[in-house]
Amino acid sequence: MADKLVYSSKINKIRSFALILIFVGFAVMYGGLLSKNIEWLMLTLFLLGVMFILLSCVVYFWIGMLSTKAVPIICPSCEKPTKMLGKVDACMHCKQPLTLDKDLEGVEFDERYNNRKFRSKAKAKIKNDE
Ligand SMILES: [Zn+2]
Repeated sequence: MADKLVYSSKINKIRSFALILIFVGFAVMYGGLLSKNIEWLMLTLFLLGVMFILLSCVVYFWIGMLSTKAVPIICPSCEKPTKMLGKVDACMHCKQPLTLDKDLEGVEFDERYNNRKFRSKAKAKIKNDE
């Protein structure tokens, strides 16, 4: 089970990225607090920490923008409401791979299907296989 590849939904991924940024920011600022004897180092670390936290705010804002564009659906697997970004995404709750593209139904999940070129290439391949 451990090596089973799990796809998490994009919104969740970005959200955890923003959370990590906040932690990094606080860690760097804490480093600044520890090095308060060296003034330039403390200032640099503080500024760096603030930058990380600002960046995370930008990322959170970006998630908000993305969420408005995401397509709300009911997951067929766990029947909870989730949101999809792009043509291929995973359920936020049960990580069930989902697609909005009928042609890709039953095809092995690949995040690269969000790329239009990759998708049409894959579709052509499916047609050839039939
Ligand atoms: Zn689900």
